[in-house]
Amino acid sequence: MRPARRRPVEVVVDRVACTAHGVCAVMSDGAVELDEFGYPIPSRLTLTPDEARVLVEACPARALLLGRNA
Ligand code: SF4
Repeated sequence: MRPARRRPVEVVVDRVACTAHGVCAVMSDGAVELDEFGYPIPSRLTLTPDEARVLVEACPARALLLGRNA
């Protein structure tokens, strides 16, 4: 069995796919804020692997993508 990844990973917002649901802001414990139109700021986050997975799976528009290791 491979050991769990512990290195931080990047989560990137696909600004074309994002439909401004705001779920990411609610789920990110302060890491994501929303602009006046409901789009996330910043568009690139560095999170633990577990935080990143939860956030990516929570986005109803599938607009959060796992990027490279930070
Ligand atoms: S949850 Fe997804 S669709 Fe909603 S604001 Fe965040 S990135 Fe955009």
